[in-house]
Amino acid sequence: MTRPSKTCPICKKPADKEYTPFCSNRCAEVDLGHWLGGRYRIPTSERPAPLAANDEDED
Ligand SMILES: [Zn+2]
Repeated sequence: MTRPSKTCPICKKPADKEYTPFCSNRCAEVDLGHWLGGRYRIPTSERPAPLAANDEDED
């Protein structure tokens, strides 16, 4: 069983010679982001607001 090319570890598409083992520069950057600690991660709204109890300051 011989594979002509690898598959992109990010999106599982056939890898491109230019960006092997990725399919595109975008996926390469996504993988790079993983290595750098999620610098390229897409921000989500999972984070709760940092401040929430500021109203209590009023006397
Ligand atoms: Zn890809």
